[in-house]
Amino acid sequence: MQKEFHLSQTDVKRLAEQFGTPLLVMSVEQVKRNYRTLKEFMPRVNIHYAVKANPDERIVRTLKDLGSCFDVASDGEIFQLQEMGIGGDRMVFANPIKPVHSIETAGQAGISYYMVDSEPEIEKMARVAPGAGVLVRVRMQNPEALIDLNKKFGAEPADVMRLLLKARDCGLDVAGLAFHVGSQATQHHAYLNAIKLCRGLFDEAMTHGMNLRILDIGGGFPIRAPGSEKINIQAIFSSINNALDEYFPSIEIWAEPGRFICGTAVKLITRVIGKQHRDNQDWYFLDEGIYGTFSGVIFDHWDYELLSFKDEPLISATFAGPSCDSFDVIFREKETVRLDVDDLLLVPDIGSYSSASATTFNGFSKAKVIVWEQLGDVIQLDTAV
Ligand SMILES: *Cc1c(COP(=O)(O)O)cnc(C)c1O
Repeated sequence: MQKEFHLSQTDVKRLAEQFGTPLLVMSVEQVKRNYRTLKEFMPRVNIHYAVKANPDERIVRTLKDLGSCFDVASDGEIFQLQEMGIGGDRMVFANPIKPVHSIETAGQAGISYYMVDSEPEIEKMARVAPGAGVLVRVRMQNPEALIDLNKKFGAEPADVMRLLLKARDCGLDVAGLAFHVGSQATQHHAYLNAIKLCRGLFDEAMTHGMNLRILDIGGGFPIRAPGSEKINIQAIFSSINNALDEYFPSIEIWAEPGRFICGTAVKLITRVIGKQHRDNQDWYFLDEGIYGTFSGVIFDHWDYELLSFKDEPLISATFAGPSCDSFDVIFREKETVRLDVDDLLLVPDIGSYSSASATTFNGFSKAKVIVWEQLGDVIQLDTAV
């Protein structure tokens, strides 16, 4: 059993000295472990990594070498993967609403399968990419998920049959159904309900002479969130897998994991660069903020853990980023030990929906990314690589 990606206090100090801060440390071995865990417990699943979670070339390349497929949503993601030698036969265009030029780009790249969830999109697909393969995305209610993607996407189950028939009548290759139960879905019920619902829709499609052949169970697979209990991911995967074997024994199964693959594979090292006492609270200013890697606080609603390696009483403090915008406050009323200027903080599990949405607002560069497993000769570390 391989060890999880870990950085000691000494590692953090040495890395900060050598490379400066803010610094993102990525473990490609952890990416591999996450991919293999998913594959081990759900062996039938054809993994399509959701590139939007973290498009870093080193993550994509690692997955490419493991044989993964990819979920793309834009021209930019298609071009990036193409340049890395990944063929369109390993991509699904998972965005249910696509500009015409993206459908053309996808067609030129050789992508065969596209998500749709509305009539206008089906008409557009038939016009721009006649005969293309489509999966109809079904809306699944799951208020338990941290990010409910079904507010924006998915056709109501009651409308799905009409869309399938429409796609067939338009001459498209009606390949199957897809769903996404929402990101960071910590319970397996949402998947089980969705799988059962889709079974009913597959059966109904059959009565209309449509033999659907692909079920895409989306992403949403969770990682441990700060302050939450440890997640038994193996139990979640096993129960999804059992449901697939029970309801879809002979159908091709796809999944589109994002967070689960990359979330635990990156850690951030950031430094306290300023300190102020305001409104009866300590304020700590870090060299990374809301406009950088901590953009995940806004877009991903994530509450990151800040490790200081100090064993002292906890206080409640405010953490702000380095920019001159008053919006650049990362956490308010955050429990922490007392900190000083120059202290280093380690932020684990910051690999998904973080650097992907970072900006260079106010002239602050994006945090540098280094690969943990490639440091062996560069720097003397605590843990053997
Ligand atoms: C974002 C997204 C994913 C990845 O979701 P995770 O919760 O990160 O696993 C998968 N599929 C689609 C269509 C998405 O938009």
